[in-house]
Amino acid sequence: MKEVSTETRKLCTEHGEIVFTLEIKDIKNINLRIRHNGEVYVSAPINASKDTIDSFVMRKSKYIRNAIDSFRQNDISKYDMQYISGENVTFLGKNIRIKVKKDTEEYVSYDGIFICIHVKRPDYYNCKKNLFNNWLNEQCDKIFSEIIKDIHERFAHYNVPMPELRLRNMTSRWGSCLPNKGIITLNKRLIEAPKNCIEYVVYHELCHFIHPNHSKQFYSLLQIMLPDWKNHKQILENSLLL
Ligand SMILES: [Zn+2]
Repeated sequence: MKEVSTETRKLCTEHGEIVFTLEIKDIKNINLRIRHNGEVYVSAPINASKDTIDSFVMRKSKYIRNAIDSFRQNDISKYDMQYISGENVTFLGKNIRIKVKKDTEEYVSYDGIFICIHVKRPDYYNCKKNLFNNWLNEQCDKIFSEIIKDIHERFAHYNVPMPELRLRNMTSRWGSCLPNKGIITLNKRLIEAPKNCIEYVVYHELCHFIHPNHSKQFYSLLQIMLPDWKNHKQILENSLLL
């Protein structure tokens, strides 16, 4: 099929921003394709208007967002990591160097400078990937839980129960919560952010346990709890892209 033109389009939908590659071709219908790396492709007939194409994507936005999320679900953080010595990863706002070491035991260690992947066969990509991702999951669980525990103390007198932490890879938000079930879900990618940014997200979600919507009262509570929240939000948005 001859391609007539290709362009990248960006749409703000109720399920977050969707970036897609639009291919205009000599075809009859609008088609949607989502690759396993989360890239979205839309092909459309030559005579289709941009409005028609955009509203097609709008209608499918929930489906697209879920598909991207589930493709990325299996891969933590950097889905194009190589797991080789000298590679850099962002961890708690710092650039950390990866080291791969041949060892008789398999584990990951971190000394504040290097994240060292100890592995029997340094050439086995999947082995290193699993070790690293399991370690990163443990770090998310440990560090996020500590932050929640500390911040929760300030909400205890509002009768907010200690929330249960869930971890997910999400592409459209940093956190979400189900106040009536006592659950806070945090995006695993937050482990890349400075600690005060993670704290900001936890403050935001805990304020929802008292005010479920983004009402005036919600923001005044957040302001009392974390007067500097706008600054932290800005740092988060500047340092990490969702
Ligand atoms: Zn919110």
